[in-house]
Amino acid sequence: MKKMLAMGLAVASAVTLMACQKTPEKKADAAPAAGAPAAAGMPLVGVTIYKYDDNFMSFVRRAIEGAAGGKAELSMQDSQNDQGKQNGQVDALIAKGAKVLAINLVDPQAAATIVSKASAAKIPVVFFNKEPMADVLKSCEKCWYVGTTSSESGIMQGKLIAESWKAHPEWDKNKDGKIQFVLLKGEPGHPDAEARTKFVIDELNKEGVQTEQLELQTGMWDTAKANNLMDAWLAKHGDKIEYVIANNDGMALGAINALQGKGYFKDPKKFMPVVGVDAIPDALAKIKEGVMVGSVLNDAKNQGLATFQLALNAANGKDPLDGTTWKFDDKKSVRVPYVLINKDNLKVAEDAYN
Ligand code: BGC
Ligand code: CA
Repeated sequence: MKKMLAMGLAVASAVTLMACQKTPEKKADAAPAAGAPAAAGMPLVGVTIYKYDDNFMSFVRRAIEGAAGGKAELSMQDSQNDQGKQNGQVDALIAKGAKVLAINLVDPQAAATIVSKASAAKIPVVFFNKEPMADVLKSCEKCWYVGTTSSESGIMQGKLIAESWKAHPEWDKNKDGKIQFVLLKGEPGHPDAEARTKFVIDELNKEGVQTEQLELQTGMWDTAKANNLMDAWLAKHGDKIEYVIANNDGMALGAINALQGKGYFKDPKKFMPVVGVDAIPDALAKIKEGVMVGSVLNDAKNQGLATFQLALNAANGKDPLDGTTWKFDDKKSVRVPYVLINKDNLKVAEDAYN
């Protein structure tokens, strides 16, 4: 897995380099007008993002744009968290002559709708970030997925929590031998949110750490929503909370903001352990400051790169994996590995987001 990642990174930097040399300021939103052909010789690649206002997806977008420079005409659309809007965007992209669709679904259940539109137009689809149901992918010959193995992030987060908990007996404030935790869940029904929520606790218990759930609610991946939830939980439970587990860093940062508002982190005696997933730059800064315990790298750069590479190949009528180092699992999916991140290996995550 390490080798694959290393090769992927090598390809990533080569492509980024080429992209920089050729089109330093490519603007992905600049779709050609309806009916106008894409720039000479370059296929039109239609991309939808479930919403631009998502921390992690903004890095995936940037990676796709970087990879596309000089190779394809991108038409990237903000679906504004509205599946109806995304369906309309797909119709418009097909009408404009897109040779392939790269789709970050709003609703993971909507994959079949997209597949039927693409199949009618005889164009391939690369889904990314929100995994469609396996049977939908199976039903469509030229459909694939690029993402991660969702459960892996929960397992790694569990390991991170277990290790830190064992190293800090003072965090067990009521000395009952259990972690009283609150959990900020991502969007319900999102495979990453469901898997992270389940596997983080499973892993902790497997490692012999007992847990007691004080609160579990969705913050919809969102910093402001998580900030509000954490404010309410602090008002209700105060220092009975011993650990804050967030399905992503965006929400971890919201919780940290609420905690700082209540005087946490100013002196070492008033500390609250917080973990997230993604390892985005703002979270890395908090880990460096010693405010956040750690995160799990969700490799935006390689997921964006793989999405574009597969899409470009498919647009050009080639095998989707042609000339790449990616491999499909038995679900026609490319899975970019997660990496556990704490203060000792911040560089790994910094490199993945630069
Ligand atoms: C990321 C979240 C992001 C979500 C969007 C997840 O993989 O960890 O930060 O909001 O994807 O679908
Ligand atoms: Ca306890």
